[in-house]
Amino acid sequence: MSLIVQKYGGTSVGNPERIRNVAARVAKYRAQGDQVVVVVSAMSGVTDNLIKLAKEIMPLPNEREMDVLLATGEQTTIALAAMALHALGVKAVSLTGAQAGIKTDGVHTKAKIQNITPKKIHQHLKDGNVVIVAGFQGETPDGHITTLGRGGSDLTAIALAAALKANLCQIYTDVDGVYTADPRIVPGARKLEEISYDEMLELASLGAKVMQSRSVEFAKKFGVIFEVRSSLNDNPGTIVKEETKNMEDVVIRGVSLDKNQAKVTLVAVPDKPGVAARIFKSLGDAAINVDMIVQNISHGSGAPATDLSFTVDKADLLKAQKVIDGLKQEIHFGGIIATDKIGKLSIVGVGMKSHSGIAGKMFETLANEGVNIEMISTSEIKISVIIDLAKGEQAMKAVHAAFLG
Ligand code: ASP
Ligand code: MG
Repeated sequence: MSLIVQKYGGTSVGNPERIRNVAARVAKYRAQGDQVVVVVSAMSGVTDNLIKLAKEIMPLPNEREMDVLLATGEQTTIALAAMALHALGVKAVSLTGAQAGIKTDGVHTKAKIQNITPKKIHQHLKDGNVVIVAGFQGETPDGHITTLGRGGSDLTAIALAAALKANLCQIYTDVDGVYTADPRIVPGARKLEEISYDEMLELASLGAKVMQSRSVEFAKKFGVIFEVRSSLNDNPGTIVKEETKNMEDVVIRGVSLDKNQAKVTLVAVPDKPGVAARIFKSLGDAAINVDMIVQNISHGSGAPATDLSFTVDKADLLKAQKVIDGLKQEIHFGGIIATDKIGKLSIVGVGMKSHSGIAGKMFETLANEGVNIEMISTSEIKISVIIDLAKGEQAMKAVHAAFLG
């Protein structure tokens, strides 16, 4: 008998028929004698709608209340999924994140899991139940509802697989696995049989949208091997695990396009020690994740000044602007320009460590498409560029064709 953790994303539970489809799959594993813990997301579109509703009330809603609101999405799905199993004559019980024993810190809307005490889960499994856990949520030690950041149901699943020492962890989604690029954008994209945590991490954090990046970090840290596969068919998916030797033979594993970033430029920032520290410390204190940072050389006569650009999650743009506005009196920069009309295009592969000329080939491909590069950043296994959002998909197709076509 195995203990299996299965996670079903928003589209996999997007309507009653899909939920019944999930129940049928779970029932099949149950009939083989396996114990199953199911983690579900909110039905597709629900979380976005809740956010929209909140923003109609006010532009910057209180984050504790945001969590109370957003947690309802997953709570709807767990109850419906339990009912769908009951309809098939399968014993099942639903648990909220808090009931499942998921304790987090108090950073509302992007809380970190501190520990999991899955006592109730074990009890219900022992009684012969399928246990359905609400993804994306937990509670603080003093009982406030928290959520784990967008896409956080993945984290719930991986963390539960680690805490329960599950034999198998399956992440069900609406694609057959991890592809060399999003097949909805690049028709020639191919499914990968396996991928390393680090490559997956880059692809996830770069917006390949397959999985939440924090969940992959967590899996790497705790050695949780998992499979990404489709809830719509029985095809084998992509196995995500520690890097193996032959993985470096492939130069580029995948291309991704992140449309969820925004760029902030501070114009004419005084070029002297401590200014950048002040800016990024303030952003950090507001729990805003900064991704790329580019500072130009000093310009202008008189006191040296420079332009400073950085990118943040689109969702944090208003908050970031507010933080920067608050520094205006103290730092005396010339102005602030913000745009969310950017895309981050990236190529990823552990093979980059042992092959050269990759950046040149990527930039040449973009030049041939008439795409201007606004910012560049690199790591050992990745090259990312910020480009005009309007040209994002065209650029992605061209780069995919150049390296993986
Ligand atoms: N419902 C949440 C979201 O849309 C969490 C998830 O789907 O994983 O971000
Ligand atoms: Mg998701």
